[in-house]
Amino acid sequence: MEHRMAHMTQMEIADAIAAKRPVILPTGATEAHGPHMPTDTDTHQSEHIAVLLAERLGALVAPPVAYGISKTFEYFPGTISLSIPTYQTMLFEIGSALIRQGFGHLIILNGNRPNGTANDAVARLLVDELDEKHAFKVSAVSYWEPGAARIHEMRTSVAGGMGHGCEYETSFQLATRPDLVKMDRLAGAHYGPVGWDLVAPTNPTRTYARRPRPQAGHAAIFGDPTKASAEAGKAFIAATVDALEETFRNLQGSYQERK
Ligand SMILES: [Zn+2]
Repeated sequence: MEHRMAHMTQMEIADAIAAKRPVILPTGATEAHGPHMPTDTDTHQSEHIAVLLAERLGALVAPPVAYGISKTFEYFPGTISLSIPTYQTMLFEIGSALIRQGFGHLIILNGNRPNGTANDAVARLLVDELDEKHAFKVSAVSYWEPGAARIHEMRTSVAGGMGHGCEYETSFQLATRPDLVKMDRLAGAHYGPVGWDLVAPTNPTRTYARRPRPQAGHAAIFGDPTKASAEAGKAFIAATVDALEETFRNLQGSYQERK
């Protein structure tokens, strides 16, 4: 079964809507990810997880959003960030196009942490603006969230080691695209645990501070990429997809098998 909308014809998509297949919209970013990883890391990861999840749920995957909110790394070459209002307007218009065409469940699957709160607000707005004429629901989730506790148990870095260009993301890339990872470039780069973490249980407060600069020796890494391995990446991905599948099967009644 084909899952990527971009590879399907309009008739195949019409059939998928009639069959009540959900649609997953991956949201990524174009941003510096340390000296060792490509700038499309978040876009690749959210789309990769989206396709694996789509296979489990019989869902479609919309073309990923390759530009996100990457203001944190704007001082680093290769980062292309949208402003928050532009990003939210774009996401709202993509979401409303899918809903107006008849999709009954839109899953916004995020791969770039700062997009997360913006995605929540857009999900809310889609319902507020469109539920008069359309019957649908929208879910917003960052892909690492449902499986966070399981991934935290498997990690080798200390809390604060999984943030950005970190143990999780580097392991993910080593598992799926090892040719694009240059671990030797980490030599001499500054990295280490930060005051937050993607998967460790932490205080929910978010503090926004002065952004990192390459001139100050920052490597565009939050966390510890040296703990990464392809083997860990495969285990993290499996736990991530299992937890997402459970989440959506348990959401307001279960999905039928649609393979
Ligand atoms: Zn990332």
